[in-house]
Amino acid sequence: MTIKKAKEILKHQFGYDSFRMNQEAAIECLLHKKDAVVLMPTGGGKSLCYQIPALMFDGLTLVVSPLIALMKDQVDALQSNGIVAAYLNSTQTNREQVEVFQKVRRGEVKLLYVAPERLMQSGERFIDFLDGLDISLFAIDEAHCISSWGHDFRPEYRQLSKLKQYFPDVPLIALTATADKLVRQDIIKYLNLQNYELLISSFNRPNIYYTVKPKRSSYGQLLDFLEERKSESGIIYCLSRAATENLALDLRDEGFNALPYHAGLTKGERDKNQSLFINDDVKIIVATIAFGMGIDKSNVRFVVHMDLPKNIESYYQETGRAGRDGLESDALLFFSWGDVNKLKGFAEIENNQQQSEIMLKKLNQMGEYGDLKHCRRKYLLDYFDEELNEDCGHCDNCDTDFEKIDGTIIAQKALSAVARTGQKFGLTYLVDFIRGSKSQKIWDTHKNLKTYGIGSDISKDEWLAYFRDLVTQGFLKQVEEKYTTIALTEKSLGVLKGNTPVELFKVTVKEKKSTLVSEVSHPYEKDLFERLRTLRAKFAKAENVPPYIIFSDVTLVECSTYLPLTERHFLKMSGVGDVKMEKYGKDFLAEIIEFCEENNYETRMTLKEPTRRKRKRKNNGESSHSISLKMFKEGKTVKEIAKERNLAIGTIESHLVKFIPTGDIQIEDLVELEKIEVIKDAIFEMNPENGLSPIKEYLGEEFSYGEIKAVIAEMI
Ligand code: ADP
Ligand code: ZN
Repeated sequence: MTIKKAKEILKHQFGYDSFRMNQEAAIECLLHKKDAVVLMPTGGGKSLCYQIPALMFDGLTLVVSPLIALMKDQVDALQSNGIVAAYLNSTQTNREQVEVFQKVRRGEVKLLYVAPERLMQSGERFIDFLDGLDISLFAIDEAHCISSWGHDFRPEYRQLSKLKQYFPDVPLIALTATADKLVRQDIIKYLNLQNYELLISSFNRPNIYYTVKPKRSSYGQLLDFLEERKSESGIIYCLSRAATENLALDLRDEGFNALPYHAGLTKGERDKNQSLFINDDVKIIVATIAFGMGIDKSNVRFVVHMDLPKNIESYYQETGRAGRDGLESDALLFFSWGDVNKLKGFAEIENNQQQSEIMLKKLNQMGEYGDLKHCRRKYLLDYFDEELNEDCGHCDNCDTDFEKIDGTIIAQKALSAVARTGQKFGLTYLVDFIRGSKSQKIWDTHKNLKTYGIGSDISKDEWLAYFRDLVTQGFLKQVEEKYTTIALTEKSLGVLKGNTPVELFKVTVKEKKSTLVSEVSHPYEKDLFERLRTLRAKFAKAENVPPYIIFSDVTLVECSTYLPLTERHFLKMSGVGDVKMEKYGKDFLAEIIEFCEENNYETRMTLKEPTRRKRKRKNNGESSHSISLKMFKEGKTVKEIAKERNLAIGTIESHLVKFIPTGDIQIEDLVELEKIEVIKDAIFEMNPENGLSPIKEYLGEEFSYGEIKAVIAEMI
């Protein structure tokens, strides 16, 4: 049994080209009959760590999982790849359970999922049952449930310590997405592990873009946000049940496909709403935190928090439900210090001063995150004891310049506006007042004040940011009464008298490059994607499984990017193994071929680099991009580099394009001078946000995708 065989299974049964993170190490460990403790973030790919060994061993793999709701899903997913799996849990009738037992005894099942309580049910009967079987592997999913330090302690997990006593020679793998050190120690201790490997992956979720917006007219901001994501799935979290109901209603009135979810609904309603969401029949779930555990939907494209979560752990777990499939996803939080104050009450735990203090500290850290002026990812990873060497370049703060300026005069103007209007108005009113708004809203008596219009040279957004900064620094405060108003503090007087200098942050949003860049690296055909999605839904309905069990969004995006036209091509798409090829290949290919014929497109398989990861490693950590750059600097042409590196010309072009923004390569090196202007015109004409192909089509044969990408990179 070798890792080579494991790779074949990865490709043929699951349709993936290469292992992720510690998957390979975990599998290798089990193949050597050693135990493994695997810590990987949500969406990292924990399941394959035991599913692949399960297929390589002769006997049965027993998977212990507390999430009964997910078992069916996991089993469906395996069956869809032609792997025989089954589960035993309380949702089944006796008869169904007996059938499973029989199948297992006959050795027909490779993976059996059970809930932990079942394992030790009716004395040792289940253990006796296992004893009579050929067990090859134990997999303990959500292993943090064994620890009382974890956020989800389940006493029945402690029973699992018996596994090593009864089956000392059967390898065991424990998996969790909780990184905490104490939890980790408990897992090892209570599972009685001795000869084990601890495999910890980075908890970074690079495909999630973190944004925090001030919680002011958040509903309007939310509508704008959703408007840009019309056909996509997402979760919106609110603090209260009533808020979820109201927001879902409002969104439906606006024409969005949204439903609520909270613990106050009947079980029937909850199950219905959840499954509509999972099956892509409802796009948006507006939920309290009751929603999420046991949701395995891989194509959640955004998670919005209308209210502040109580701590970073919850925030990270909830935002982590976005983008399990690895595609670009968004996390948006609406933040105000008012929310921090509101939540303080919840942090008090009666008769437990120590615990209350911990909760308060965590809440304040959540506030700190909301108010952060530097890379958000860095803060989050640091919170979990992981160091990020550079700013991520993929969060709102990385896309924003914070310039410290002498804000004394600005502060004086703001503070005197507050003083002159009597300290009883909210932020919006004050900003309108200071900017001299002609609106009827402004009191007539106020229009005669000296401070009215004193700040008309500064934009509304800037004023809002300055006011917030002044509140943060304690020169002003928010007073929560019927409305939130702004008032002076002890520190205000010094400023008004001119004794206290004030520094403020001047905030400018950099030209937003990230969306365009990712647009360029994934210029997929949106219309085709929609058609494939419809086709997928048809199969999902017919087989009564969620659409992502048929194919994940990644598979559909790859198909719409590379336009596979033959079976051989189609097998190269991520997530297409032999069984799925057999089952769905013909229909999906027919749809793609038809689309290409209608649009006169050829295949774009040359854009795909199937062995990118492997190459990267072989190159001693030097990235594939840099190697292309080095060769280019040595005077080789794109064609020569492509030939030498055995990569497509398009691939080399996209490597080199990456170095235009950094200045390592000049646009003229890649595109003839007289072509540049022509391409620019075409870009303005066709708008690159619609993808590259319209531009290419407009320009015709003489222009390559590489040249177009180069000019776009230069324009950014
Ligand atoms: P986790 O249990 O860690 O949250 P999953 O096991 O559910 O994650 O995997 C998340 C997604 O990633 C699934 O859609 C899975 O098929 C996919 N995946 C797992 N391993 C790979 C891989 N090596 N290459 C591509 N996709 C993968
Ligand atoms: Zn960042």
